[in-house]
Amino acid sequence: MQTPTELAAAYRSQGRKLTPQRQLLFQLMHGNDKHPTAESLFAEATAQMPGISLRTVYQTLNELAEMGELQFIDIGGGATRFDPNLDDHHHVVCVDCGQIRDVHVNGTAALKPVGIEDFTINDVGVVFQGVCSTCEKSRAKSHKTAHAKSPAQQAKISK
Ligand SMILES: [Zn+2]
Ligand SMILES: [Zn+2]
Repeated sequence: MQTPTELAAAYRSQGRKLTPQRQLLFQLMHGNDKHPTAESLFAEATAQMPGISLRTVYQTLNELAEMGELQFIDIGGGATRFDPNLDDHHHVVCVDCGQIRDVHVNGTAALKPVGIEDFTINDVGVVFQGVCSTCEKSRAKSHKTAHAKSPAQQAKISK
C-alpha cells in the first residue's frame, strides 16, 4: 500500500472522492500489520474522528482494494480482514486471542495437492493455527497442572 500522501494524489488523479475521513483511513491502514476487520478499523477511526460512518469505512476499504492497494483475507471466523501488505505471504492465527501475523513460507509453489487436478489454482494461502506466546503464558498461569495443547497446524488452499 502506498503512503497516505501518495494515496491522496492517486484519489485526485482518478477523480475519486477524497475526504478527511478517507485520509484518516489511509493513515490507519498504512503499514498496519494487525489485519483489521472493517469493524475494528471503524472503532479506531471513531476514536480519532467521531461521526465517521461504518459505511465510509467499508467504501474506502473497497476502493483501496479496487485500486490494488490492499487485499482481503478470509481466515475463517466469519469476518473479512484487510491487509495492506501486498507481498506474497501467509498467516499464523492465535486460536485464543485471534491475532493474525504475517508469515513467509517457502516452497508453496511446489506443492502437489491431490484431488484438485480439475481446478485452475490462482492462489495458495497457508494458515498456521496455534497459541501465541502471550496466550500460552496466561494459559500456563490459569492451568498450572493441565498440559497445554500443542499448536495445531493447518494448511488451507484458498481460491
Ligand atoms: Zn494469543
Ligand atoms: Zn498479512
